[in-house]
Amino acid sequence: MAESQKPAQTGIKVIVVGTGFAGLTAAIECQRKGHQVLVLEKFPELKLLGDIISFGPNSSRLFRRWPGVAEKLEPLSMRADAITLKSWQGETLLTQHWEGEQNEFGIRYDGHRGEFHEIVYNHAKEIGVEIRLGTRVEDYFEDAEKAGVVIKGGERITADVVIAAEGVRSKGRKIVLGFEDKPKASGYAVYRSWFSAEEIAKDPDTKHFTEGGDKHVAWLGPDVHFIAACMKKGQDFSWVCTHKDEADIEESWQLEAPLEDARKVLEGWDPVVQKILDKTPSPLVDWKLVYRDPLPTWISKGRRIALIGDAAHPFLPTSIQGASQAMEDGVTIAVCLRECSRGGGSPENVREAVAAFEAIRYERVKSAQKTGEQTRDIWHKADFGAAKKDPDSLRLRREGWLLGFDAEAYAEDQYARTVAVLRRTGLADTGEARKLHVPEGQHGYLEFGGESGGKGKGKGDVSAEARAVAGTAVS
Ligand SMILES: Cc1cc2nc3c(=O)[nH]c(=O)nc-3n(C[C@H](O)[C@H](O)[C@H](O)COP(=O)(O)OP(=O)(O)OC[C@H]3O[C@@H](n4cnc5c(N)ncnc54)[C@H](O)[C@@H]3O)c2cc1C
Repeated sequence: MAESQKPAQTGIKVIVVGTGFAGLTAAIECQRKGHQVLVLEKFPELKLLGDIISFGPNSSRLFRRWPGVAEKLEPLSMRADAITLKSWQGETLLTQHWEGEQNEFGIRYDGHRGEFHEIVYNHAKEIGVEIRLGTRVEDYFEDAEKAGVVIKGGERITADVVIAAEGVRSKGRKIVLGFEDKPKASGYAVYRSWFSAEEIAKDPDTKHFTEGGDKHVAWLGPDVHFIAACMKKGQDFSWVCTHKDEADIEESWQLEAPLEDARKVLEGWDPVVQKILDKTPSPLVDWKLVYRDPLPTWISKGRRIALIGDAAHPFLPTSIQGASQAMEDGVTIAVCLRECSRGGGSPENVREAVAAFEAIRYERVKSAQKTGEQTRDIWHKADFGAAKKDPDSLRLRREGWLLGFDAEAYAEDQYARTVAVLRRTGLADTGEARKLHVPEGQHGYLEFGGESGGKGKGKGDVSAEARAVAGTAVS
């Protein structure tokens, strides 16, 4: 970054652990907002890992603020104009078009996780973010003045704030929760695959995927769904299959499963699904889904260490929001740290900023997580007779409070008000301040792990004014 473009420096030192989308967003935004940031990542080198990932309009607008990034993401992004929902036997139930959503909230970026990640990683480097690869964080610590990490080999690094963005197996959770919290199985796993669409294009029964623009089709069956996507002008093909799985979880993107395992799950499904399987290289990625009820808190007692992204709140894929919410976290904490430093700042203000970050994010994320449970239940328990009469019942909910949201503008707008409540109630409890930020109409999504929707408890005291403010959307 040219000297003249540098933002005013806040003097706040931030360590970010992890270069997933949460960590990179936090780092880029901290750099943009004038904090001094160091990123630590255990991987020794960048690899194009993963397959399909989705960024909704709420996070796509954040990418567009980073010069040159959207232009690089666009040609790699799927641009299907609709998703078609079918029964597992192949009957078309609903075609949900994206045009309206796009006009209202803006475009999405859906594409290969590794390709997108490389673009964002390179952008972070280009703007001067310091990233130390091959640096595994073993432990976290904090005292009244500082927070820090211990890296493999024993080196201790300190800063004013540590942002733990190390995904579902977060080590930062121990200092935040006060105990070792092991990830738990969600009862579901996802088979995943990404390959060249060459063979798909040769078969008369599947070549339609590669013609006339990108395609996105989901087949729904009892406790299973299979989603296929063809993108990059018919070049690349990807599918994911979410299914019941009771195995012990060992959350890792390196886990593999033979194609035969997916064949068993999808036995008897639509012949088009069988044809896709015929063309799929073995083995598949076997991603054991980690999911948990919301953690009681994402921030350490000393208010200098914050969990963000999957470290704080793993998402079900059916929410289509995991990566977007991770990015929103990263932007929000960077804004809070800048707001706290206005007028000089002090160590005490940094602790307020971390508490404000949690208060601003907590209820929104909880509501967003819940949408994943709802869609999974709607799809996996679909009554196809009823769905034929009312296809809209299967529609993916694409709501304004979620997709029309601008995390950066919201945090800027809400910081002072949130801190005012925290000063009244004390930093030890963010409960009152969280209540300012319940998204409009979402105050019922409190009970996790049970039936979806509506059974609100304990939120009757949230004022209409607070909900209205929390639901503020931008178009
Ligand atoms: C390799 C990989 C591939 C993925 N592929 C997909 C995909 O295809 N589709 C999809 O929807 N989601 C995928 N995900 C998950 C998805 O990126 C996240 O669910 C979402 O983007 C939230 O990101 P996050 O930054 O919170 O966590 P993550 O993306 O999990 O990133 C966490 C980062 O922290 C690093 N890290 C972990 N522990 C330590 C430590 N102790 N010290 C230092 N660094 C550490 C990890 O190496 C990783 O880079 C993938 C994640 C990873 C890590």
